Amino acid sequence: MTKYYQATNVGKIRKQNEDSIAIIEPETFIVADGMGGQAAGEVASRILIETVERELKTASLPYNEEILKNAILKANENILSEVEKNSEYEGMGTTATILHVAEPKEIQPQITTQTAFFAHIGDSRLYKLERDGLKQITQDHSYVEDLVRRGEISEEQARVHPMKNVLIQAVGAEKNISVDVGQFRVNNGDVYLLCTDGLTNMVSDEEISKILHETKNPADDLVEAALNHGGKDNVSVIVVGIL
Ligand code: CA
Repeated sequence: MTKYYQATNVGKIRKQNEDSIAIIEPETFIVADGMGGQAAGEVASRILIETVERELKTASLPYNEEILKNAILKANENILSEVEKNSEYEGMGTTATILHVAEPKEIQPQITTQTAFFAHIGDSRLYKLERDGLKQITQDHSYVEDLVRRGEISEEQARVHPMKNVLIQAVGAEKNISVDVGQFRVNNGDVYLLCTDGLTNMVSDEEISKILHETKNPADDLVEAALNHGGKDNVSVIVVGIL
């Protein structure tokens, strides 16, 4: 079982909130950060959420890597076909980070330990809160993260790089996208955070983990921290505690 907290906020600068978040029963958590001119980003992240909800409704439990990935691929098709019908949506896309916490084996005999599955594309993030800080589970599909991985720039240089916001993978960006997937064992007391870059660009890892360790209202307090640091972007968070 999980206990979760969620919050999304337009921020202090942007006029529209292009992020979409959703909780789908059972135990499935999604953040999506839409991009594109006019209202297109909002449309893209909404199509992502709606498609994933529809796909999961007919899928069998647990929602494993394959099921989550296929739901994102279906959303990719849907976004592309929406762009085809409506030229003002040209260039829209969205990130997608989905976490599913599978119930233990009395409910799903094929699961022997409590397991979580995730699927991910873009630069929204999934973290685990550890005693000494945050551990990022997903990898950013961004141009600068790629440079870091190839050893061409440092983490510090990446943080202030002018092309920081350029994604190399996004749902709706092209016909063939590659979705990262994975699974890991979860334990009672674990805390996981899904968030868009409106949080991580505004608030340091140290401050995020301090808030998660100390507060009773983690989602609202994380959003508040992003706003206090300038709120330059839409900010969305889902905090999931394993019970
Ligand atoms: Ca964003």
